[in-house]
Amino acid sequence: MTRVFNFSAGPAALPEPVLRQAAEEMLDWHGAGCGVMEMSHRGREFMSIIEQAEADLRELMAIPQNYRVLFLQGGATQQFAQIPMNLLGSGSADYLVTGTWSKKAFKEAQRLAGPLGGTVRLVGSTEAEGFTRALRADEFALDPQATYVHLCTNETIHGVEVGDDGLPPAVAPLVADMSSHILSRPTDVSRYGLIYAGAQKNIGPSGLIIVIVREDLLGRAHPLTPTVMDYKVMADNGSMLNTPPTYGIYVAGLVFRWLKAQGGLAAMEKRNIEKATLLYNFIDASGFYRNTVEVGSRSRMNIPFLLQDDALNEAFLAGANAAGLTQLKGHKSVGGMRASIYNAMPIEGVRALVDYMRDFAAQHG
Ligand SMILES: *Cc1c(COP(=O)(O)O)cnc(C)c1O
Repeated sequence: MTRVFNFSAGPAALPEPVLRQAAEEMLDWHGAGCGVMEMSHRGREFMSIIEQAEADLRELMAIPQNYRVLFLQGGATQQFAQIPMNLLGSGSADYLVTGTWSKKAFKEAQRLAGPLGGTVRLVGSTEAEGFTRALRADEFALDPQATYVHLCTNETIHGVEVGDDGLPPAVAPLVADMSSHILSRPTDVSRYGLIYAGAQKNIGPSGLIIVIVREDLLGRAHPLTPTVMDYKVMADNGSMLNTPPTYGIYVAGLVFRWLKAQGGLAAMEKRNIEKATLLYNFIDASGFYRNTVEVGSRSRMNIPFLLQDDALNEAFLAGANAAGLTQLKGHKSVGGMRASIYNAMPIEGVRALVDYMRDFAAQHG
């Protein structure tokens, strides 16, 4: 068996020890006589799995008591609809657009706002600049009456990230799509009304989405909201109104435990800074590769880069694959390459990528 360094944006690489443990427990979880996929979600065994997963996530992110953790389905894309259905009411929400994902979230909210009886506003966008930076607080004026303010704190396709220090003023509950950088750094959860993240980037298998929501935002859903999409109903039922994505929750739980064993999110942030700095510094000094994102907005997780000449892209990818460096092709809307270096990517993988890029540039530059 040869495992490659997999730079996929998602579904993405998982920590090898987690996969090994899941493999070991596939047929018989802790003497249950069956695997997690085959268990009743309401049985004692699975209840202990979901409770431990939540406890570990709460510890990792220091989630305050007045927030609920929901394990849901439908992906971040479903949240684009679920958020306005649950939170918009007859009010108005503000959206910041800094890349493909926040733009999609805005479009979906815009589509639903009328039927829901509310409105949404696009208060700031960097689209005209090709989504190459985060928005600065002095570039937009939020509605102090807004029911919420939506943003994407890490744009997976464009490689634009904001941390807690780059957040807009808290005039209204902040709703953040953290799909591709949750757990990559400490986050002050109390600064957000709602955080959501699809699992397949930095948590676990696709099919699971985690929503962390402040309790006072529950119970506001539009009456036509489907029951399974009502945050309050899901919170009241421990994410088990219906069958939850049990296997995804189990693997996410293994990842949370792995993160704790690595030293938690402060330790992960240190490593993620080290990995990203290595790659950005190489790109910037190379004279052959380019990353066009403004330095202060560069993502530590998703690093798009262009080659000196697009005609070399195919050769670059073929050589990378042959060297065991896979899934580097950039999103078609941006072109070039993209290296996604989530928590599960070891520094050795980034070093191997930089070595390959250096050799390739020497041959083709
Ligand atoms: C991948 C991604 C999405 C979409 O996730 P789905 O699970 O495919 O719905 C949304 N937002 C961000 C930031 C993403 O990275």
